[in-house]
Amino acid sequence: MGVPESKWPMLSVEEARALVMGLVTPLAAADLTLADLLGRVLAEDIVATQDMPPFAASTVDGFALVVADMNPRRRLIGEQTAGQMHNLTVTPGTVARITTGAPVPQGADAVVMVEHTEERDGHVIVHEMDLRPGANIRPIGQDIATGDLVLKQGLVLGPAEIGVVATLGRATARVIPPPTVGVLSTGDELVEPGAPPGRGQIRDSNRYALMAAVRQAGGVPLNLGIARDEPGDLERRVRQGLTEADVLVTSGGVSMGHLDLVKPLLERLGTIHFGRLRMKPGKPLTFATVGDKPVFALPGNPVSSLVSFDLFVRPVLRRLQGYVDVDRPMWRVRLLHDVRHDPDRAEYQRAFARREGGEWVAATTGFQGSSRLMSMVGANALIVLPVGVGNVSAGEIVDAVLLDAANGY
Ligand code: AMP
Ligand code: MG
Repeated sequence: MGVPESKWPMLSVEEARALVMGLVTPLAAADLTLADLLGRVLAEDIVATQDMPPFAASTVDGFALVVADMNPRRRLIGEQTAGQMHNLTVTPGTVARITTGAPVPQGADAVVMVEHTEERDGHVIVHEMDLRPGANIRPIGQDIATGDLVLKQGLVLGPAEIGVVATLGRATARVIPPPTVGVLSTGDELVEPGAPPGRGQIRDSNRYALMAAVRQAGGVPLNLGIARDEPGDLERRVRQGLTEADVLVTSGGVSMGHLDLVKPLLERLGTIHFGRLRMKPGKPLTFATVGDKPVFALPGNPVSSLVSFDLFVRPVLRRLQGYVDVDRPMWRVRLLHDVRHDPDRAEYQRAFARREGGEWVAATTGFQGSSRLMSMVGANALIVLPVGVGNVSAGEIVDAVLLDAANGY
């Protein structure tokens, strides 16, 4: 009797990623309300249907006046505040008080800042006499003119872009919606983090880590709970995920043990595209489709599941959201110490990267065990040690994937 051999061919990370990305296309566009537009990809061209600003407005608090008037002392005829029409007419010899954003009254061709005036006995003394016509006035259409193509299809909406949608009077925009991602843990040893673990049990950390990763990647997590290492319970929860979510992510149950039931189930329900990768951590990462739904069966070890999520699930979630740019930036970093590496597989070591003396340097987070979640805590980069590269010495330059740096670079 020899060592049991996995029936799954070993793919390279590059082959596997190309295969996965070849199978996903963006979700169908939908109209979402202003509050839900952050990070969404625009699925329509937005053309201005009106000028912005829609009327000539003061850009300062001060007095609206006629520039050609040579007399510094002028009679105050009233006040024009933002948001209310007062129907004042400014003529030579008079001024009207005006607030920022208020429409410039008829007859006035400039505004003098309140700081450059003095008010006395119902009159205003203007100290700034070299104003040009139009001074401190924002003309109609200065920001946006009717007919302008202001936001192009494919643009990712951030705060400023959402502001433009709102200013044009749109309550919704047509965008690619976020994918719903079912997240399921598997394993008899797992309990809810709020429950006391029995003998031999541990708390389910993957589900909460992965739901957070889904959110960070722009998706909406759907909590599918913990499946027992029993075919019926597993199948029921997997089917629920396939019904309710756009993508299914499981963790655990993809190794070589007799209770690793995920691969046999996915093989029965759909098509497994790969079940093993030349990669560390994350070797048993399994990718399947059931109908047209992508299913990622991630390894159970906490670090393996998060690293394989980042390298495989995150780009898929971004592609589903219509992003063209689906990968994290890759930077060149100088290693601060020696790193041991087996050239037979691609390895992704968790690291702290920072700028030092005009270049980027990185140190690993210590022992790189795939169950050591602390090797990922605070990490802002993954050092990439590709197939074919052996040990690397301090001072050498390697590629690093830059992670979301919640704790800075
Ligand atoms: P498995 O792939 O199911 O054999 O799991 C591999 C290792 O990951 C085992 O030590 C499991 O206890 C652990 N593990 C699996 N799922 C989780 C989880 N959801 N949270 C924390 N550890 C897990
Ligand atoms: Mg298990």
